[in-house]
Amino acid sequence: MLKINQIWKNILLETEAKVSTLAYDLYINSLEPVGIYHDRLILVAETRALKNIVDNNYKDVLKKCMAVVFPSLIDVEIITEDDLPNVGSVEKEVNIPLGKGFVPIGEERATFVSQYTFDNFVVGKSNEYAAAVARAIAENPGTRYNPLFLWGGVGLGKTHLMHAIGNYIQRTFPEKRIMYVTCEQFVNEFIESLHDTKNPNAIKNFRAKYRKLDILMMDDVQFLAKKEGTQEEMFHTFNELYLSDRQIILSSDRPPKEIQIEERLKTRFGTGVIADIQPPNLETRIAILQKKCNAKGYNVNIKVLTLIAEKITTNIREMEGMLNRIISYSTLVGGDPNDINMVNEALKDYEDSSNDIIDIEQIVAATCEYFRVKKEDLVGKKKTKDIVIPRQICIYLICDILGQSMPLVSIGDYFGKRDHTTIMHARDKISEECKNSDVIASQVKDIRDKIYNR
Ligand code: ADP
Ligand code: MG
Repeated sequence: MLKINQIWKNILLETEAKVSTLAYDLYINSLEPVGIYHDRLILVAETRALKNIVDNNYKDVLKKCMAVVFPSLIDVEIITEDDLPNVGSVEKEVNIPLGKGFVPIGEERATFVSQYTFDNFVVGKSNEYAAAVARAIAENPGTRYNPLFLWGGVGLGKTHLMHAIGNYIQRTFPEKRIMYVTCEQFVNEFIESLHDTKNPNAIKNFRAKYRKLDILMMDDVQFLAKKEGTQEEMFHTFNELYLSDRQIILSSDRPPKEIQIEERLKTRFGTGVIADIQPPNLETRIAILQKKCNAKGYNVNIKVLTLIAEKITTNIREMEGMLNRIISYSTLVGGDPNDINMVNEALKDYEDSSNDIIDIEQIVAATCEYFRVKKEDLVGKKKTKDIVIPRQICIYLICDILGQSMPLVSIGDYFGKRDHTTIMHARDKISEECKNSDVIASQVKDIRDKIYNR
């Protein structure tokens, strides 16, 4: 039996990958499931205007996605609250078969950033080999390119490529057990399971979890340096997977031989394919910015994109940060993101502030101080208004200031393992509020000033 919310969540998961982020956030994700009435999914829209937009533009894609996830559902109907009394008695919990090949949300499903796909990855000279191998592995995971060792500077797309492999495999080979971990996560989990006094099987479970995988992806393995215990553990995990032809994908900011780890692990890391990613050239950087604009629904012309791509040459994430800054600045002051004067104004601010490195802790601390709330409440579960608004403002500021260097999934983890869609919702809500409410806008500004110590 599946509850209606569960059903809708799975359909959302499929839809998120099929529509633009903007459309998803604004329209699709704001619909609420009511129930199922004769194989028809009933959704309620907050306003009639929203209902009309979805009816006219997104009903077909919703139906298509629904057919992938739950083929027995044949139609979707959008209503408004006014129509609720006229809906017959709907079912809120049904026994419903899943579509073939669809992996539902659950414990076993790894979550990959849905925007990090091969389609969204711009290929140029600097990354074409890495992208080609990644693609070949996604299409045919196993022996041929094993292990894949991806390396390159910060913000050049290593994590993006790993998630692209993950998204692809999850869709094409739903039966495969695949997992993505950051090296830090692996280290922490290992240490925790060593010291877990309550559960004598913790270390056994930890080993079993990693050694039963068909595909293991570990990001930023340079963090294994100086962690001898974890290196030893990784060595055995590696061997177990490798010797039974299971796919291993590793990433690092440097080639295997330069990582400070024991020799035998270095050798193993380098026995398969080593692919490096170099900083992209100007044309590729502009193409990447264009892709991001399309995905986010930003309307920024080539002149402005070129200006950004000329300013930042070695880190795509920073380039995106600059783009986001221009957009949020123009939204705040009500200007045109294509007006060069405004862009310069926005970037002046960017350069001033990018000198000091700001991290999530500083943003959280400033928010807590400003609203006089405790950090554990801010990142915790409380739903009272005096906590919810500060929490949403904090999330908005994190997204705005840290940009892509802090993926929504990680922010969600930080805020008590909340779903990334919740983070997205908070971010967009405050971004809207900044336009509609002077109070919120000035709170955001005050906290921002606090963070930058102005
Ligand atoms: P890394 O893991 O190498 O530090 P990421 O994979 O996190 O870098 O990439 C940083 C940002 O740059 C991400 O938002 C990613 O989508 C983007 N990016 C990097 N390379 C490309 C590319 N070739 N095409 C599109 N986006 C890219
Ligand atoms: Mg990365």
